Amino acid sequence: MLTSGPFDWTSDSLHNLDERGLRRARRTIEPLSGGRCRLRNSADPEAILWNFAGNDYLGLAEDSRVLAAAQSALSESGTGSRASALVTGRTIWHERLESRLAEFKQCEAALLFPTGYAANVGTICGLVGNDDVVLCDRLNHASLVDGCRLSGATLRVYPHNDLTIVERELRKAASARRRLIVTDSLFSMDGDAARLADLACLAEEHNAMLLVDEAHATGLFSERGTGLLEAAGVKLPHVLAVGTLSKALGGQGGFVTGPQSVIDWLWNSARTQMFSTALTPAACAGAVTAIDIIEQEPQRRRWVLEQSAQLIAELRKQGWTIPENTCGPIIPLLIGEPGPTLELADQLQNQGCLTAAIRPPTVPHKTSRLRISLSWAHQEDGVNALRSALKRCQGR
Ligand SMILES: *Cc1c(COP(=O)(O)O)cnc(C)c1O
Repeated sequence: MLTSGPFDWTSDSLHNLDERGLRRARRTIEPLSGGRCRLRNSADPEAILWNFAGNDYLGLAEDSRVLAAAQSALSESGTGSRASALVTGRTIWHERLESRLAEFKQCEAALLFPTGYAANVGTICGLVGNDDVVLCDRLNHASLVDGCRLSGATLRVYPHNDLTIVERELRKAASARRRLIVTDSLFSMDGDAARLADLACLAEEHNAMLLVDEAHATGLFSERGTGLLEAAGVKLPHVLAVGTLSKALGGQGGFVTGPQSVIDWLWNSARTQMFSTALTPAACAGAVTAIDIIEQEPQRRRWVLEQSAQLIAELRKQGWTIPENTCGPIIPLLIGEPGPTLELADQLQNQGCLTAAIRPPTVPHKTSRLRISLSWAHQEDGVNALRSALKRCQGR
């Protein structure tokens, strides 16, 4: 056994995380139907919990039609795609999904990536470099931040949704080769929306590119369920929208939609899809069916949004602190310090509700929170279980 070595610092660093309540446990989940699960490595591995810590907003990860589509592609084409899309990994299933996404988002073209994370990093690095300026909302998802950093462009982080600063920074960047604004559409930790119509106007006025990450909004917002860009009346052909197949679509993978020339350029330049194996055919086939269901069954998204709005109003009345502009299925209860946040999550888990204790560095210091996400799969029984559990935690 080694007594000392070059990796010793890792134990010290873990100890340090422990002391600050920031160490992450590795959970093993057993997904069950109806938005439920078991936590296999918990004190009570047999307990059935409502899963309010997932992103399967429409219950499509367990939909029999999505499963059947994925299974048939699996049988026909195998478990893997065997190569990057650029070489021989792009099958008929990928082609179909890209056309379907372009049609759904009413854009000229779409490009698939192995994940949403890869879509953000690859797209941003394909669009800007050393001579450019990128403007990034302070609350943007880590994958957007990483893309901005890796691109080599000058990074300007602006206060959350502060368009006065965006405008000022665009003016200052007038002589840069290119300007790019990147934003989440529904922010993943506050559950509020970007001011997309205003951002689109600013982008147009200053000849800047606009990249909107619709990871949490696709499938939920707008009449057709495409996301917040359409809901805000922003003409989709003029902006790039990134999305993921792993949230409301219930599967796995990422994509970007936009003008044909941009998509063709990213096919030739986005390294995260050029040098990574293409999505599995099963993931593509499942996603095509998921989009069909999103179009055909608007009642799913309407129910989720209605239930969320109702629950947010009730919880505020009960004294919980929820960000002012939270407007969708992501409901953060602001607690402050990591310790009490973990305690609340434990209390809820003991009452059959699994939620996420979100702590730094995912969110800024002093803003640790309990993050609840609602899904169609929960149905009224699940939402009521959560209501009662939270009521019992009132005396915290
Ligand atoms: C989840 C998420 C991603 C990453 O998507 P994956 O497909 O899980 O890699 C990107 N952006 C935002 C805003 C997200 O919430």
